[in-house]
Amino acid sequence: MVYDVIIIGAGLSGSFIARKINRSGFKTLLIEKSTTIGGRFSTKLVGEGIADYGCQYLHPKSADLSNLIEELGNKYIVKKTKINDSNNTYIAPYGMNKIPQYLSLGINTILNQKVVSLKKEKSNWIVKTNVYEIKSRSIILTMPINQVNQLIEPLKNIIGELPNPKYESFFTSTFQSNKQISSDILRSDINAPWICNNSQKGLLNNKNIFTINFSNDFSNKLLGLNQDQRHNMINQQLKHLGFNSYSNLSLHFWKYAFSKEQNNPSHFFDKDEMLGICGDSFSVGQADGAIVSANQTFTDLIKYM
Ligand SMILES: Cc1cc2nc3c(=O)[nH]c(=O)nc-3n(C[C@H](O)[C@H](O)[C@H](O)COP(=O)(O)OP(=O)(O)OC[C@H]3O[C@@H](n4cnc5c(N)ncnc54)[C@H](O)[C@@H]3O)c2cc1C
Repeated sequence: MVYDVIIIGAGLSGSFIARKINRSGFKTLLIEKSTTIGGRFSTKLVGEGIADYGCQYLHPKSADLSNLIEELGNKYIVKKTKINDSNNTYIAPYGMNKIPQYLSLGINTILNQKVVSLKKEKSNWIVKTNVYEIKSRSIILTMPINQVNQLIEPLKNIIGELPNPKYESFFTSTFQSNKQISSDILRSDINAPWICNNSQKGLLNNKNIFTINFSNDFSNKLLGLNQDQRHNMINQQLKHLGFNSYSNLSLHFWKYAFSKEQNNPSHFFDKDEMLGICGDSFSVGQADGAIVSANQTFTDLIKYM
């Protein structure tokens, strides 16, 4: 069996382009290294509610993302919010991960399989995970460019110049707090520039479930500590922020969270190799970059299928 297209990564860009390719009638396979679909559109159970701990909201700058939001709004997957006092900002009441989950419905998907090598044999790509070896006429990579570079190291000669975005790296924590700290959706502190009450943001929680992004400086200090020391430092910081009691605390380190003020090429596509690369390392970055680059990659790919 040879697939027409294998898409590596089931985040926003991967699930978006996979749906377009699948709808065009091609044999499509989506491969994701995590156990769930979503990538950095990530939501998890925290105590008696849910928290977004990756992308927090959509504030579309491109027509491509605006069109997708309109469709998602009609399906009750996103809705407007007053966060940041903007009239053009959207959240997902059941969690941001519902967006890639919706986009990938009906697409042949393999979860929990990291792609570990890619090589071209005659006119087919051989995509290897720890378990499978799968053939495809073309491949699309959707992870941050630093991870693309690791995967395509042996293929550097066909790639040429790829973008070089500067990703922010930091720790995110999530927890439940019974104490009503403030009526604000958002607060900010020097060590914690993003303190968000997911319930007030619009997620369908009955309890106060918080997401905090720590600053780069604070995150760097945490990185140098062992688990107990890290826990103590977080505990002190949460008390300082007014959270005297909390439960279900967990931490996640984002090595490639997002880049700011990015203006990169729209996407990468090589018709001779039938290799496409999209994701938020392209275009203006973040959710807009992911969707714009996936759309452009699809337009190129489809011409040569
Ligand atoms: C804390 C945080 C807050 C953010 N806030 C916002 C915001 O408010 N607004 C906004 O627009 N954007 C925000 N972003 C950025 C936004 O989440 C991303 O730009 C967007 O999700 C990128 O989607 P993507 O498909 O390009 O990449 P990803 O979501 O990273 O998808 C790539 C997928 O590839 C998988 N993968 C990687 N390597 C392999 C491999 N070898 N084999 C198989 N699978 C692999 C990964 O597991 C992942 O699922 C935020 C991000 C973070 C982390």
